[in-house]
Amino acid sequence: MTKPINVWVVRLGLLLALSASWIVLDDQDSTAAFAPLNVDPDKRFVNETKLPVGRLSFEVLEETTGVHLPSRLYFAYADGRTEKPIVGRFKHILVTSAGQEIKTIPVGDYDVYISRGTEYSLDHQKISITEGETTHFTSTLSRAIDTSGFISSDFHLHLQFAMRDGAMVAAAEGVDLLTATDHNVLKDYAPYIDQLNLGRFLTSVVGAEVDTAFGHYNSFPMSVNRWEDREFRYAIRTPGEMLRMLRADPGEEIVQINHPRRWEPSPRSGYFDGRMNRETSEIEYPFFENGFDQVEIYNALTDSEDTGPKPAEGEPPNYDNKHYGRTDLVNQKLKDWYSLLNRGILMTGVSNTDAHITRSRTTTTA
Ligand SMILES: [Zn+2]
Ligand SMILES: [Zn+2]
Repeated sequence: MTKPINVWVVRLGLLLALSASWIVLDDQDSTAAFAPLNVDPDKRFVNETKLPVGRLSFEVLEETTGVHLPSRLYFAYADGRTEKPIVGRFKHILVTSAGQEIKTIPVGDYDVYISRGTEYSLDHQKISITEGETTHFTSTLSRAIDTSGFISSDFHLHLQFAMRDGAMVAAAEGVDLLTATDHNVLKDYAPYIDQLNLGRFLTSVVGAEVDTAFGHYNSFPMSVNRWEDREFRYAIRTPGEMLRMLRADPGEEIVQINHPRRWEPSPRSGYFDGRMNRETSEIEYPFFENGFDQVEIYNALTDSEDTGPKPAEGEPPNYDNKHYGRTDLVNQKLKDWYSLLNRGILMTGVSNTDAHITRSRTTTTA
């Protein structure tokens, strides 16, 4: 019984990892998103370009129901220039929670790609923005995958920008359950989901990523945060002790082992590193705890491989060079997981983004 469920969870997780490409959103300053609801948080960024502007009015509709869909609009110059146009606080990307907006856009010809994660079709519109004029398009997206009986989630999500934006991008990517797992703090997205009227599209759960001397663990739901004090966390002596404490409030947590292996073995953040032999799968740690609910087989943050030249010291990574997919490290974690399953230790394998902040660009090939 358990195995097919595991396989499905992994498959859905991989889809999710693909759909979570909203980490391409590029923005170091989304403070504008704290503006009142009637202020367009994108307009200031367009005005700062000092380019002549026009307006874009658009609607994104679901084909069968006609419902306006939360979605993402990716803008590229129609003349093939690789530089990205600025259309708002997420640079070349607009995110809509209402599914219909009127936006200020610099004059020009654009290819616009409209999407809502991997469960929906992708639409493409060619548009021209003329100074002082309003251009309109209607985009229709249809369900591409039948997910009846399933919900999509990302069980490792930091969203370290404005929480209202976090709720918007999760809805725009078709995430059904927003699992908030920031470092040692509890975040509740429910008020933002309510405020944005997104309740019919997604719900949320409060959790946290807890770092310890023997790995990082996600736990949800959480009702009491006792994890902010680093000294307290690092005084816990064994993974078993920590697991019992995590399950104390409210008593029904899912506890997940995060990134159990790292490229550079790291016993502090990778639970299996230094505790399970990479070659023989032997357990080499007397306090090895088997009682976790799930283990991350794929983590888009720690599993990406650089396929280009290394960035210079102090320079950020070039996300054009990142490869996300079945790397050697993923194969190692599959081997670890199978060895646990073969011993009758049943943990669900999952795949997550571990998205933290926004990125300038990624290529996703998984
Ligand atoms: Zn971590
Ligand atoms: Zn994390």
